[in-house]
Amino acid sequence: MPFICLQCGNCCRLPGYVYIEEEEIAPIAKALGQTPAAFRTECLEEEEPGVWRIDDPFDEPCRFLQGGRCLIHKAKPSQCKSFPTGWRRKDVGDFCAAYRGAGKQKTARKKRRNKKAAQAVR
Ligand code: SF4
Ligand code: SF4
Repeated sequence: MPFICLQCGNCCRLPGYVYIEEEEIAPIAKALGQTPAAFRTECLEEEEPGVWRIDDPFDEPCRFLQGGRCLIHKAKPSQCKSFPTGWRRKDVGDFCAAYRGAGKQKTARKKRRNKKAAQAVR
């Protein structure tokens, strides 16, 4: 069973920063109906030269989470697209119920396979 997002928005409320690649700036600005320059000024912080992040406080939800949905869904940053399966944090299951569920299904499948294999050799 593949990972299926429950669209709860929890990952958009996590403490942390949302980083944006240089090439993602123009598509996101377009999705917002802004010029890239205006988007940089109004929404981004340049943490160090060439490293951009959404200018939200560390412990507040992402400003683009509105009504439980991502306002820039079609153009959202790769950091967001890769959550949770592409993240290396070991605690993603603590705040992503879908990830926990996928993990349980995987374990159950593995147990079933092992049981079948055990029966086959009897
Ligand atoms: S926390 Fe998990 S289930 Fe909820 S929106 Fe994010 S990826 Fe989807
Ligand atoms: S950009 Fe969209 S998907 Fe990414 S944290 Fe913000 S609301 Fe969530």
